[in-house]
Amino acid sequence: HAKNAGRNIWQIFKPGMNALIEKRRALEVDLDAGIAKGEFELFLQPRVDVVSAEVTSYEALLRWHHPERGIVSPVDFIPVAEASGNIIALGEWVIHEACRILALEENVEKLSINVSPIQFRHTDFHRRLDDIVRRAGVDPRRLELEITESVLIDDDKRALKILKELKTSGYAIALDDFGTGYSSLSYLSRYPFDTIKIDRGFVANLGDEGSAEAIVHSIIDLGGRLGMTVVAEGVETLEQASFLARSGCDELQGYLLGQPQPLERIAVSVPAEVVAGLAREKRNGGGR
Ligand code: C2E
Ligand code: MG
Ligand code: MG
Ligand code: MG
Repeated sequence: HAKNAGRNIWQIFKPGMNALIEKRRALEVDLDAGIAKGEFELFLQPRVDVVSAEVTSYEALLRWHHPERGIVSPVDFIPVAEASGNIIALGEWVIHEACRILALEENVEKLSINVSPIQFRHTDFHRRLDDIVRRAGVDPRRLELEITESVLIDDDKRALKILKELKTSGYAIALDDFGTGYSSLSYLSRYPFDTIKIDRGFVANLGDEGSAEAIVHSIIDLGGRLGMTVVAEGVETLEQASFLARSGCDELQGYLLGQPQPLERIAVSVPAEVVAGLAREKRNGGGR
């Protein structure tokens, strides 16, 4: 009987698992060529100041224009690149491209790039970053590095050392997806973050029964006390934006404020109804 059950499970999962493994393998094979052929692009998504309702900076989000598959999501190819080691080359391409945009575009004052834990831990990361930034003639203070807490878990002391050195060179550092995984409030005081990004999972749950509102309040409060800029990710509705503005969140990012877009189509201002909504909260005493 047990054997039967086992076989049934195998039959249920086998096709899907195979498809997943196949897809990963195919992407892995295509990655090298894709990097060499320039199939990647940075889409930019605005980050908006709650008080002024102006765009303060953009997050660079990587897209792959695959010749057969169309646009492939980073959710699908970043893990593949990390597993194969290609993430180093891809990550350097991202730095190059971010610097090119910063050197070219006066509309883009600041840019945040996502840095994989593997890339961050690579021995040469800081030196290579400096090289690219210097050659592009870009002020490091215009570049923010988004890392996730997984960077901090494995090798605490080394991570702290690297972060301090990066800060000394002028880069801004953001803690991405805060509140997921093993997040600990003590990270916030131990590491020199300029920015905390509240994970969009909490933003999505605002207004529902549950603890999201209390958690969001606490993150905003603590981040503020530590002098960090608190950004909410995944803001999709005016209700969420209003709640975050009233709670003293500094900046908003999400489809409500602007979709990730190619450089030539980036949002430079915020939809009028959002500006009006934020102004209403300001009159009612929101903001910090
Ligand atoms: P992330 O850094 O947390 O980026 C935010 C993700 O949320 C992006 O997904 C963005 O498109 C999406 N998003 C923005 N606003 C909204 C919203 O209002 N609602 C919802 N549901 N989603 C929203 P995307 O572009 O698919 O990127 C996914 C993840 O892939 C990123 O999460 C980041 O971890 C990783 N990634 C993206 N670009 C790079 C890169 O250049 N290097 C590395 N290492 N990772 C990257
Ligand atoms: Mg990010
Ligand atoms: Mg993010
Ligand atoms: Mg995030």
